[in-house]
Amino acid sequence: KAWPKSAGVDYKELQELLLDTPDAKKAREWSSYYTSGPHLAGKNLSQAIWTKEKWQGFGVENTLIVDYDIYVNYPKGHRLALLEKNSSSKGEVEGADAGNSSAWKIKYEASLEEDVLKEDGTSGLKDRIPTFHGYSASGNVTAPYVYVNYGTYKDFEELVAANVSLSGKIALIKYGGVFRGLKVKRAQELGMVGAVIYTDPGDDGDVTEYNGNKTYPAGPAREPSSVQRGSCQFLSFAPGDPTTPGYPSKPGVPRQPVDHAIPSIPSIPISYQDALPLLKALNGHGPKASSFNKYWEGGGLRHEGVKYNIGPSPDDLALNLVNEQEYVTTPMWNVIGIINGSIPDEVVVLGNHRDAWIAGGAGDPNSGSAAFNEVIRGFGRALEAGWKPLRTIVFASWDGEEYGLLGSTEWVEEYVPWLQASTIAYLNVDVGTNGPNFRASAAPLLNKALQDTVSLVQSPNQTVSNQTVGDVWDGHISTMGSGSDFTAFQDFAGIPSLDIGFGFGGKSAVYHYHSNYDSFDWMERYGDPGFHYHATIAQVWGLLAAKLIESPIIQFNATDYALGLIRYVDSVKQKAEDAGFLDSHVFDSIDQATARFQIAAQAQDAVAAALEQELEDNDIPWWKWWERVKLYYAIRQANTKYKYLERSFLYEKGLDDRPWFKHIVFAPGKWTGYAGATFPGLVEAIEERDEGKARKWVGIITGLLAKASEHLE
Ligand code: GLU
Ligand code: CA
Ligand code: ZN
Ligand code: ZN
Repeated sequence: KAWPKSAGVDYKELQELLLDTPDAKKAREWSSYYTSGPHLAGKNLSQAIWTKEKWQGFGVENTLIVDYDIYVNYPKGHRLALLEKNSSSKGEVEGADAGNSSAWKIKYEASLEEDVLKEDGTSGLKDRIPTFHGYSASGNVTAPYVYVNYGTYKDFEELVAANVSLSGKIALIKYGGVFRGLKVKRAQELGMVGAVIYTDPGDDGDVTEYNGNKTYPAGPAREPSSVQRGSCQFLSFAPGDPTTPGYPSKPGVPRQPVDHAIPSIPSIPISYQDALPLLKALNGHGPKASSFNKYWEGGGLRHEGVKYNIGPSPDDLALNLVNEQEYVTTPMWNVIGIINGSIPDEVVVLGNHRDAWIAGGAGDPNSGSAAFNEVIRGFGRALEAGWKPLRTIVFASWDGEEYGLLGSTEWVEEYVPWLQASTIAYLNVDVGTNGPNFRASAAPLLNKALQDTVSLVQSPNQTVSNQTVGDVWDGHISTMGSGSDFTAFQDFAGIPSLDIGFGFGGKSAVYHYHSNYDSFDWMERYGDPGFHYHATIAQVWGLLAAKLIESPIIQFNATDYALGLIRYVDSVKQKAEDAGFLDSHVFDSIDQATARFQIAAQAQDAVAAALEQELEDNDIPWWKWWERVKLYYAIRQANTKYKYLERSFLYEKGLDDRPWFKHIVFAPGKWTGYAGATFPGLVEAIEERDEGKARKWVGIITGLLAKASEHLE
């Protein structure tokens, strides 16, 4: 054969091992280990060491811990109280306060605690982690408050348009829609002095206590005291350590100011139980939320008598919000395992984060971590059978994802020269499963490899026998946004990435995201009884990795990228047309460039397919060595074109106002965070109706498309 074959174990045997190894019982055991106690970022060294030793035990001897010194906060104290002005007219004034009309009394003191449940083992740990926000500011503010719906950019715009006074007030915000840090960012920009973010049961679909469901642990509905912790970093500025944007947080490096990266107003997360008295107290004050538009309508607590008025709260009420955080620069630990392949400069990276907000984290992230161990155990069995992979595999267990993709971003920033020279793909699993529906987001180059792989794995849920994950999947692949560790790979380094897992399925039990009840007990009872989805995501992940590692021709599809680009361009044009902005001829150069790119991409895929065929058909006799050499170089050239293709879409100066984000096609939406934006620079220019900027981005996009085409041609 002209191409080095993986030694020891052939591809078919490797696939069998990766299908056969993942075991639900083992996954349950790993899950039980990871979720047995707190493992907050920078406080999980024992789990890092355990992970390293496990991987070495599975046969990946070359596993090490890579650490960074990262600036983060840990919670010290908090308080949220609804205060009512003492006034004789209310007739409730007692004792010493009587007659002092300016004194406040406590109308409601929020518990800020999640209930201890005897059915949920980790909910009552003595060292359980308080409810708080990552990267939140310390502060003690007393002010009137306003209900701002989801606190999206648009929600705030509508409040401003309706002349609701925001400055100097505390925002009472509903979780959902956009990344929480962006809610706080916008509140801060509008002069608000604090943010309280609560979970509304109205966002739990049909599974609420108001639709006849029992609440956890007795039933699938939300536990009313559950609180969603989470990071409030600004995300659209840059992920990673906010003091070292663009470079690794090694000891002794210079540190930058953080004001543009994290909030300066205090924020806390609360449960709907704690939000209820606050919302009720707004009844009758200010406009009704439903008078805005349908996105403002209601919320689940109307069943409790909440009218969802916007406020502001009346003069005789105020919120006292106290948030005490300790900021430190502290080590965080990535575990990195490496299996060297025969081709030194072609690498596939697999990653999952290990840190969680709570002791549990059975869904986020440890369903992924448990599955990861099963993937690695599978590769370990292949190594034991004498396997030497074609390409190099790197396994990464990240720390600090929850605060802002810290471990992965710092690692990518440190190794970016090597990663860009060698990495063909990054495969992320964050939540491996919290429900039965397969979901995926991916760079288009990887679509086909993913689609081919899901049809090789049996679905745990079959209405017809032998249904595969692919058969029961709706087939939708989202574009890459942010919210997990693929971000630095995709948006900073230009490495095609994907993120897969099983998620919510309409009627599934409510997932208590970032709450104490994302626990082993919840997982065993509701999330994945039997841990079959854990084993299944391990099979999909392992097989997908194997396909990319072992196929002589890299399993990319450039035509899918071209088709994606054409779709994204169409949507940009539509946006411009809807906005009645820009002459449509402005986009002509992009159209020509995508047409050229499509031809180049199809030609590249055709060359790749022909080479694949040639490898399959011919065993070139040893004495025709020159033909072997020719074929070898042809494959090498095709693979190199695929490898660097995504990199052609990086723009050195980055996006306007957020230079860390270098990819011109994919970025997290500036005001959504999780959801991806395509051609973000140009779209933002259209939204801002800035013709100069729009023309600049048309030029950049046209130029990089030409570069990408040239690279393929
Ligand atoms: N996955 C975490 C979250 O959504 C972290 C996201 C981030 O900070 O980028 O809260
Ligand atoms: Ca950094
Ligand atoms: Zn996660
Ligand atoms: Zn998370």
